[in-house]
Amino acid sequence: MALAFDEYGRPFIILREQEQKTRLRGLDAQKANISAGKAVARILRTSLGPKGMDKMLQSPDGEVTVTNDGATILEQMDVDNQIAKLMVELSQSQDYEIGDGTTGVVVLAGSLLEHAERLLERGIHPIRVAEGYEMASRIAFDHLQHISQKFEFGLDNIEPLVRTCMTTLSSKIVNRCKRDLAEIAVKAVLAVADLERKDVNLDLIKVEGKVGGKLEDTELVYGILIDKDMSHPQMPKRIEDAKIAILTCPFEPPKPKTKHKVDIDTVEKFQTLRLQEQKYFDDMVQQCKDVGATLVICQWGFDDEANHLLMHRNLPAVRWVGGVELELIAIATGGRIVPRFQELTPDKLGKAGIVREKSFGTTKDRMLYIEHCANSRAVTIFIRGGNKMMIEETKRSIHDALCVARNLIRNNSIVYGGGSAEISCSVAVEAAADKYPGVEQYAIRAFADALDSVPMALAENSGLQPIETLSAVKSQQIKENNPHCGIDCNDVGTNDMREQNVFETLIGKQQQILLATQVVKMILKIDDVISPSDF
Ligand code: ADP
Repeated sequence: MALAFDEYGRPFIILREQEQKTRLRGLDAQKANISAGKAVARILRTSLGPKGMDKMLQSPDGEVTVTNDGATILEQMDVDNQIAKLMVELSQSQDYEIGDGTTGVVVLAGSLLEHAERLLERGIHPIRVAEGYEMASRIAFDHLQHISQKFEFGLDNIEPLVRTCMTTLSSKIVNRCKRDLAEIAVKAVLAVADLERKDVNLDLIKVEGKVGGKLEDTELVYGILIDKDMSHPQMPKRIEDAKIAILTCPFEPPKPKTKHKVDIDTVEKFQTLRLQEQKYFDDMVQQCKDVGATLVICQWGFDDEANHLLMHRNLPAVRWVGGVELELIAIATGGRIVPRFQELTPDKLGKAGIVREKSFGTTKDRMLYIEHCANSRAVTIFIRGGNKMMIEETKRSIHDALCVARNLIRNNSIVYGGGSAEISCSVAVEAAADKYPGVEQYAIRAFADALDSVPMALAENSGLQPIETLSAVKSQQIKENNPHCGIDCNDVGTNDMREQNVFETLIGKQQQILLATQVVKMILKIDDVISPSDF
């Protein structure tokens, strides 16, 4: 309430609408938060695994995305609840750190929340639940290390890497071509990897897509790809050992300034002007030829006369190349961007083994391949596909495969997939629970149950009976003392994931458990939610 005066000095009272706030405290707050988190996890649950469903999302401007990548689904969903946003961030941090397992991490977190809710209802304090979960996550983390296996590969033996990338791709739309795409991803990573330092700079791998062709036409280019063609159809389509002049100056005579006036009143004068213009072009071409350039790449266009002359003097050229691409070409070929013809020198030319123009099908679409560049190990993955949606989803799937290959180069330990690692951890955590005398043991057992949700979701999504399948696999693991038994999603006939070659990286799986536990602990510790009300 406030007292104010109008322009005549008369007092009046401003009654401010009472600020509306809703407030949830204690158990109610925790329950509301848990159900928000669970709702997000429920959406992703059906997308898990090789038989997982895809989601179709439409953005406000009408663009449609079809994907089953957890991080992408959540990123495109317009969630407005703060706790739901935490789950979105959970999936994104898994994507950022590891690049794969973004659906699994959310499913696990959702299940941890669900089991926590039951414990809260039984009167166990949230902090005790959080502590129990923390202990259990450490047990699971160590157990994963224990069941992990080293995974040998080399430059001449890339098969194991390819197999692992295939596991990642098998749950995506692109699984029809998973073998080819996995090979492309592994070769791309190995081309830019620093095996001594055990690191890979994924920025050196450019992923490009062009609508048209088939997914099978996707290829790996050892160099750069630009969406341009030679400026004249009669210029050579293939140049070997190219010396490239990279120019930001236009191929055109200087323009007269406005204050100058050119009077052309006779035919002779016109002829002289024309000859002079031609000489300008000629000099420019000569300057490029003098330093030894066999190809010019220009930021600007040039007119037909210059184009013709370039063709005539046998100097192939590419025009209208954007600034970013120009820079990339300069870096890759070890050349310098030259702003004036006078500054051209032989050492500023970029070098590439082959520059070739390729046309696609019967269309007039052409692209320029700059391969075997002097300086750089940069490679490009060029994706083809029937429509934009398909290309975008393939880009995301390739990204996951690239990340998996990179993770294996960083750390070559693996665990087996198909839920086998989760079941094995669940058994180990369950067994450890008995050693804790306090209330935490309930939480530790709940954690073990929550771990089962991943194999259950895999079974459910593959049309199997979740509970029966899980209990059969679990008892088989214990009886045979074999931590590699998982869910046979594709009905191959064996549930030994070692035989099926379904692997996942150890660091990826460990990260899933750590991140999911962290977020759930954070949600459990919130006991007061103050938010503006809707009206
Ligand atoms: P994420 O985004 O978490 O990687 P995916 O939809 O890719 O989710 O599913 C990954 C899960 O599917 C992992 O638990 C993995 O072990 C399992 N999986 C992948 N391929 C197979 C397969 N052929 N058989 C059984 N499980 C598989």
